[in-house]
Amino acid sequence: MIIFKSSVKLTAFIETKKKQGNVIGFVPTMGALHSGHISLIKASRLDNSITVSSIFVNPTQFNNKDDFAKYPVTIESDIDKLEGAGCEVLFLPSVEEMYPPDEKLLTYQLGDLEKILEGAFRTGHYQGVCQIVHKLLDIVQPHILYLGQKDYQQCMVIKKLVSLMNIRVEIKIEKTIREVDGLAMSSRNVRLNDSERKRATKIFEALSEIKKKLPKGDPRFLKKQATEFLEANGFKVDYVEIANADNLQVVDNLDGSANIVILIAAYLNEVRLIDNFVVEVD
Ligand code: AMP
Repeated sequence: MIIFKSSVKLTAFIETKKKQGNVIGFVPTMGALHSGHISLIKASRLDNSITVSSIFVNPTQFNNKDDFAKYPVTIESDIDKLEGAGCEVLFLPSVEEMYPPDEKLLTYQLGDLEKILEGAFRTGHYQGVCQIVHKLLDIVQPHILYLGQKDYQQCMVIKKLVSLMNIRVEIKIEKTIREVDGLAMSSRNVRLNDSERKRATKIFEALSEIKKKLPKGDPRFLKKQATEFLEANGFKVDYVEIANADNLQVVDNLDGSANIVILIAAYLNEVRLIDNFVVEVD
């Protein structure tokens, strides 16, 4: 695997490879890699002749300084995992490389999408996501961008960014990879102690319960029940929401006409976990 720290050098390398007829897949990450990230690398390797990954813990998307400071960094083992998965190129920039000191950051017109759900609880988060993803897409210029459904709203935000900025890239969204007990894999899971780790699976249980009862249940009641269940297990719940899978608007009455996404965000002490299930109409 070739590791680039300079964006100029990486762009030049990709341009040469594209001229030679290569198809480029891109998997942006913040590192502390797990099987969820590796599934994206594998998906990219199936479609593309060169897979580029990036590891960059992006400061502008952290609304909470403590979360940024405690974000796990495991570069050596990340490199081993990427090499093991057959990733051809890793972009590992510094903060100065991505954010030159005098540069003015762009603001993106994301509309409602950055005000609801994650946006409501993490002010400025999606502006930060757009700032970094826009820069990375500019540098890597991939044919296909791979994202995880685990970050459902982020996928929608990045699709909007690509359309707003007329970026020529195809987006592929890959399913959420889970631990055997159902917990969605996440870099933040390593911050859970033993008792928190055992309880973390309650999010998966709450999503499963809502999905099971959804065809007949009242969404408002199901959300209330799930919130109480999580609180009884020691979570501080940011939201349990049942929404239209295409636009994230809250669905209070199910008429079976649209795909649904059930989304949960909740804290176990200091660690914030998110997960979602998509329920497709028959
Ligand atoms: P992150 O390093 O958390 O910024 O995630 C990098 C990419 O991996 C994003 O597109 C995430 O949605 C995706 N990802 C994170 N966790 C998972 C998972 N459990 N399964 C599949 N993809 C994931």
